[in-house]
Amino acid sequence: MIVYMKRGATEEQIKAVLRRIEEYGNSYNIDKEGEHVLIGIRGDTRAVSEGVFEQLPGVARVIRVSPTWKEVSREFKPKDTSVDIGNGVKIGGGHFAVIAGPCAVESYEQLIKTAEVVKAAGGHALRGGAFKPRTSPYAFQGLGEEGLKYLKMAKESTGLPIVTEIIAINDIELFLKYDVDVFQVGARNCQNYALLKELAKTGKPILLKRGMATTIEEYLNAAEYLLSHGNSNVILCERGIRTFETASRNTTDVNAIPIIKQLSHLPIIGDPSHSTGKRNLVASIAYALAGAGCDGLIIEAHYNPLLAKTDADQQVDGEELKRIIKKSIAIRDIVEEDVSKLYNGGTK
Ligand code: PEP
Ligand code: MN
Repeated sequence: MIVYMKRGATEEQIKAVLRRIEEYGNSYNIDKEGEHVLIGIRGDTRAVSEGVFEQLPGVARVIRVSPTWKEVSREFKPKDTSVDIGNGVKIGGGHFAVIAGPCAVESYEQLIKTAEVVKAAGGHALRGGAFKPRTSPYAFQGLGEEGLKYLKMAKESTGLPIVTEIIAINDIELFLKYDVDVFQVGARNCQNYALLKELAKTGKPILLKRGMATTIEEYLNAAEYLLSHGNSNVILCERGIRTFETASRNTTDVNAIPIIKQLSHLPIIGDPSHSTGKRNLVASIAYALAGAGCDGLIIEAHYNPLLAKTDADQQVDGEELKRIIKKSIAIRDIVEEDVSKLYNGGTK
């Protein structure tokens, strides 16, 4: 971190900055750039607040050189992280995987029919929400524990690892009891730090979706909560952000894929379902995300999308899913060379 003093800052003002640095337990070095005195703060500056220095008299500005999301950064770990989600499925570090399934688990029949469709289409894991964070309290909230039971049964019959959303700390035990392979943290809970800290303790793979109004900086800091509390089995997910545009459900931030791959070693997948909200846009955006270099996709699919109780407008059927998976894998292969140039090959 560098503290830039104003031109003409007094000895006293400089000394006050140095005293504050010592109070944090850090050391410093002093340099000059033209008429400005520059004070470099040495050591771990994650707990040091820029604001504290900016408020001191004589300080022009403060620049953070190393990010607070240290363990998430590629500087900390240059090599790509590959997350093993069970039953031989890996995401990241050269492994591309597609998680597919209904928005919500609605019944055993619906889930098992859809799981078979996902498997036949070439999907690698099964998604399905048992606890749904719905905008309206009157909307279908999910089957709860019964849904987890069906997910476990679907895994036993298809061999697909299961991915399902957790919305409360109190449900963690239940998720462990039903052998959930990947704990999904939805957009609405991206910055629920209490939940993230508890989830870190499980050591289970966590699919952390980007919040709908979360900057990349805030998103990487949210992921840091998991890593700094001992869990590096983290998969990131770009699921669209909220912008002024209303023609689609969200706006897919395709830029976030290569930007995050440069900044972080963590795998990142794309969600073309929630980022568009429309079935007939899912394929195009899946290809855009694969072309941008993501490590996989999460796609809402239903054996009969018209019957879906939640997110019916965006779920695709088995035929569409199969086409999307096949072409996305081909596109990801085509761009591999360009993607790996972005971060020195991920030093695989
Ligand atoms: C979901 O995956 O069904 C979901 C609720 O997604 P998001 O958290 O991205 O809105
Ligand atoms: Mn959904």
